[in-house]
Amino acid sequence: MPSHDVLIAGGGNAAMCAAVSAAAAGARVLVVEAAPRDWRGGNTRHTRNLRLAHDAATATLTGPYPADEFMDDLLRVTDGRTDEALARLAVERSKSLGDWLGGQGVLFQPALGGTLSLSRTNAFFLGGGKTLLGALYRKAEGLGVKVRYEAEVVGLDIEDGTFRAAEVATPLGAERIEASSFIAACGGFEANIEWLKQGWGEAAENFLVRGTPYNKGKVLRLLIDAGVRSVGEADQCHAVAIDGRAPKFDGGIVTRLDCVPFGIVVNADAERFYDEGEDVWPKRYAIWGRLVAAEPGQVGYAVIDAKSLELFIPSVFPPEEAETIGGLAEKMGLDPAALKRTVETFNAACREGHFDPTALDDCRTEGLKPAKSHWARRLDTPPFYGYPLRPGITFTYLGVAVNREARMLMEGGQPSANMFAAGEIMAGNVLGQGYLAGLGMTIGAVFGRIAGGEAGAHFAH
Ligand SMILES: Cc1cc2nc3c(=O)[nH]c(=O)nc-3n(C[C@H](O)[C@H](O)[C@H](O)COP(=O)(O)OP(=O)(O)OC[C@H]3O[C@@H](n4cnc5c(N)ncnc54)[C@H](O)[C@@H]3O)c2cc1C
Repeated sequence: MPSHDVLIAGGGNAAMCAAVSAAAAGARVLVVEAAPRDWRGGNTRHTRNLRLAHDAATATLTGPYPADEFMDDLLRVTDGRTDEALARLAVERSKSLGDWLGGQGVLFQPALGGTLSLSRTNAFFLGGGKTLLGALYRKAEGLGVKVRYEAEVVGLDIEDGTFRAAEVATPLGAERIEASSFIAACGGFEANIEWLKQGWGEAAENFLVRGTPYNKGKVLRLLIDAGVRSVGEADQCHAVAIDGRAPKFDGGIVTRLDCVPFGIVVNADAERFYDEGEDVWPKRYAIWGRLVAAEPGQVGYAVIDAKSLELFIPSVFPPEEAETIGGLAEKMGLDPAALKRTVETFNAACREGHFDPTALDDCRTEGLKPAKSHWARRLDTPPFYGYPLRPGITFTYLGVAVNREARMLMEGGQPSANMFAAGEIMAGNVLGQGYLAGLGMTIGAVFGRIAGGEAGAHFAH
């Protein structure tokens, strides 16, 4: 008999929710995390909140967010590209998540105001994702869960859809670890540029990875090769425009740029390419990664003037600054004459209106292509500021198919005897495209709990 009932690959939210649930059911659980201890927890380290359905305001959430509204939001952003039964399951189970996480020692902070406008729908972790992880690891280890760091799953022994053992690379060499069941909770393949190229072509070379360098999709590839059914497309992902000076990996939330609606964005030819004021920023920020990815060299440049500097949460990097548009262009490596022309044309098209940064106002351009539909104000007040932009990939959606038990489905549609998945690696079941803020953590926690409960159910010792 294997010495572990449940082997879990991964060390983020999905893995630890699964570990706690499996151990609470009485199973002997081993977690293998590819990262060293100081870097444990993958993309979860960077998170701030999760989305929860609830019927009435709570201490940490303002008004109600009924399950039906959550579901409608999900159907809208995915444009129907979702497994409705699994999406409904995630939404319904999100109702109990706040209390459940609280029971594991996770603390939430009182509802916030501010630019994200999420206080009704999303609960924020006190201390952020790292503190949430600290609580889950503490709880899991208290329940007897063993955790091994620098332990990367690099091979899987799977026979007819049944897991037998994993080959795990450790600093001391490769090891074969057997277990009665297996939970894959080891993220997507967002840190694997070669795989990203299959969806995005050479452009992926210029992507920045907002989170962990460890999510390379190794286990996902092994599972698909072993006959597990895949869901989702290689180019579907969450990607935002981030500060182009961010590091290649792990820049996290502080490299995000929220100034787009208040100025203009140009490409390497100093030309505008999309309506910067199409809608409020929380509804638009997730499309700008794709937009910048489609431009030459996968770069963009956001330009604002002194009127807008205080209207958004700044990036961790200070903006380029100059007294003239030409001077700013030089600092950003753009053709000064071309940027001046673009700004003059934009300024000439701006119509007077009542500027309101918190609502869809009536400041718009006339006769300009592409138009700017809201918050269009002349760039006329020095100093002028500029931020370089690049696509920042958050996480990929192509993953393994699961059923309501978080059990993997094989190519023929039959459920695996003992393999489960949770988190990013199966998020594509719910997210065929688009995104709703906080959904990544909701999917990880809901399916982590289910996977842990199912995998651990038969092992009360
Ligand atoms: C900057 C940033 C901010 C975000 N903010 C939010 C937010 O506020 N709310 C939200 O809902 N979502 C947010 N997200 C998305 C969110 O991080 C993910 O959806 C969620 O954390 C995924 O959890 P997970 O457990 O599936 O993956 P992860 O937390 O990424 O964990 C995957 C783990 O698997 C390990 N691993 C990888 N390969 C192997 C292997 N072969 N063997 C063993 N271990 C392996 C990794 O080291 C890692 O520990 C954010 C993402 C980023 C990058």
